[in-house]
Amino acid sequence: MKDDIVADYLREILIELQDNSEGEVADYIPQLADADPEPFSVALCTTDGQIYAQGLNEGDVELEFTIQSMSKPFAYALALKEHTLKKVARFVGMEPSGEAFNELSLDGETKRPMNPMINAGAITVNQLINGEESPVEERVEKIVEFFSELADRTLSIDMATCNSEIETSDRNMSLAHMLRSYDMIQDESHDAVESYIQQCSIKVTVSDLAMMAATLANGGEHPVTGKQVCSKRVALQVQAVMASAGMYDGAGRWMASVGIPAKSGVSGGIIGTLPGRLGIAAFSPKLDSSGNSVRACRVFEHLSRDMGLHLMAAEKRGRVAVRNISTVEGSAADKGIKTIIRLQGDIDFNAGEKIWRTIREHEFASKSVLVDLDKVDEVNDVGERMLRELYEHFEADGYQMELVDSDGVLSR
Ligand code: GLN
Repeated sequence: MKDDIVADYLREILIELQDNSEGEVADYIPQLADADPEPFSVALCTTDGQIYAQGLNEGDVELEFTIQSMSKPFAYALALKEHTLKKVARFVGMEPSGEAFNELSLDGETKRPMNPMINAGAITVNQLINGEESPVEERVEKIVEFFSELADRTLSIDMATCNSEIETSDRNMSLAHMLRSYDMIQDESHDAVESYIQQCSIKVTVSDLAMMAATLANGGEHPVTGKQVCSKRVALQVQAVMASAGMYDGAGRWMASVGIPAKSGVSGGIIGTLPGRLGIAAFSPKLDSSGNSVRACRVFEHLSRDMGLHLMAAEKRGRVAVRNISTVEGSAADKGIKTIIRLQGDIDFNAGEKIWRTIREHEFASKSVLVDLDKVDEVNDVGERMLRELYEHFEADGYQMELVDSDGVLSR
């Protein structure tokens, strides 16, 4: 008997890809240039909190590395949590730039950075956290705290990597100078870059990342602690921007071939989110020319293809929502006949539409109707609204309605 089908499957992917030694470790940050190129790991976290993590060699799963650009979606979430979307959007756009991560891509008219996934946008987002007047330490503390909440453990900063990046940060410094000249950021350029680079230097493991990503996939509700870490709307916004801009100049190709909203970092990690389903992370330090981990990209391709995870793959919906409509003998008040409508499965928009249609076409033998929800698994907001409207519609038409909901799938 297999130990665990998911864990075995993840291991098989790592083994299949282990001979791929293409790419180079990032060398523009001296500390990263010294990184061991061998570690290789992958983790999945389901939206109900199950984590599967596998490493090629011992220690790979526990290995901590710097989060780098994978911090950008989470910092964006924090800024959106502290401000309105409207305010954040005044400083950072949400259009793909189609350029490299460290390109100065500003909107020609507004001079806003094109999106929060490129460095110019991320430096600006970082500045929105904890208020304009915040000292660097307090801003970074706020970020570390938020990331720790997402990872469900206390995270810390790798100061060696941070300092080594600050020493070679001409590029980011020039972005900050430019952003300051357009009043997009207030801090001195050096402070803005230091704050952003500290954010990039937070240490995480592949499992931390999968859990952080799963929180976004789960509409901001942490899959393990159950805490609403950010609103559903914020989680949606962050993932939407990841989908269009997360993979920089390769974002369009990535969406077509892999179809998982993702964000990469130059330490060698990639995170991905599948709304309502999974958080995913893969790690291996050697990068391609766009700065994405070669092996981690391959892992995502495998997962997408072999496990049917492409967002745009139209999965056939499960069971028919109306299980059956039957009649039973009723009391005198029912005029002898009662109609029973049995619903089943998950009731969402599609199911709601099907229920309305089926019932409209049905010829009712009596004015007494019982709706049985006991075989219904879950009802989402729109499904519930549609069921209620259907119910009210019947009542208005003079039907006597009865509802059986033993498990309380409806909210009230
Ligand atoms: N700290 C890195 C930088 O600003 C992050 C880049 C990345 O991971 N793509 O250059």
